[in-house]
Amino acid sequence: MTEGMIIDCHHHLGSEPDYAAKLVDECARLGIGKVCTIAPWGEEGNDRLAALLPKYGDVILGFAIVRWSEDTPDDIARYHDQGFTGLKFIIPPAPYDDELWFPLYEKAQELGMPCLFHLGIVSRSDELGHTLVRNNYMRPIYLDTIARRFPQLQIIGAHLGNPWYEEATMSARWNPNLYFDLTGSTLKKKSPEFLGQLLWWTPFTRYRDAEGRYAWEKIVFGSDVPYYEIHDVLHDYHRAMSALGLSEELKWKVLGGTAARVLGLETEPTIG
Ligand SMILES: [Zn+2]
Repeated sequence: MTEGMIIDCHHHLGSEPDYAAKLVDECARLGIGKVCTIAPWGEEGNDRLAALLPKYGDVILGFAIVRWSEDTPDDIARYHDQGFTGLKFIIPPAPYDDELWFPLYEKAQELGMPCLFHLGIVSRSDELGHTLVRNNYMRPIYLDTIARRFPQLQIIGAHLGNPWYEEATMSARWNPNLYFDLTGSTLKKKSPEFLGQLLWWTPFTRYRDAEGRYAWEKIVFGSDVPYYEIHDVLHDYHRAMSALGLSEELKWKVLGGTAARVLGLETEPTIG
């Protein structure tokens, strides 16, 4: 594989007190240079993650969880000031593309904060308490609306929209600023051929994407498992991409090259 940095676009901070240190060690072992880490659920979650960024910020890129009913564009700016790189959105009280939320997306776009959206059926857990969960509000098609309305906003949809895969991939084809990760059960249960049928376009097909890219250039690596299982998800990505015969260059883009662009980490090529 072409040499480069692997970037994990979807990770959750675990509850162990030394989780960040263990995560950073494991990333070094696996060649992961940056890990987009989502704050824990709950009142203090964002502050807990923010407190770790001065020490671990070289590797851990913080993603603040946006609180739908409370957060204003000023709070988005505050997350930015606290050192957060991006934002995580999940379980909205109205669909993701409701105009109610546009001021939040507008601010994220202005500040260059990439946005990771949970998509599809969310797991049931006691942590959610009495939160009313409407999975239908987290369909991939809503990201299409947001991507069109905020063309500079960098958007990552989680889980390839599981189970709304077709909605996700067709939205990715037409929106240069919309990407998806393959976290969750998809890589375990769906065949590489299934993914190949969804992610079919190339610069040479009659029907192409908005920028003439390969479909796989819209896919990024994410783990969404505890640090000690990241290697397993990485293996699943490799397995699927090799089975589909992706070029080494394309594999590298999925594992880190594309994410570097999404996160604004690309270094300018040296001239001369
Ligand atoms: Zn997740």
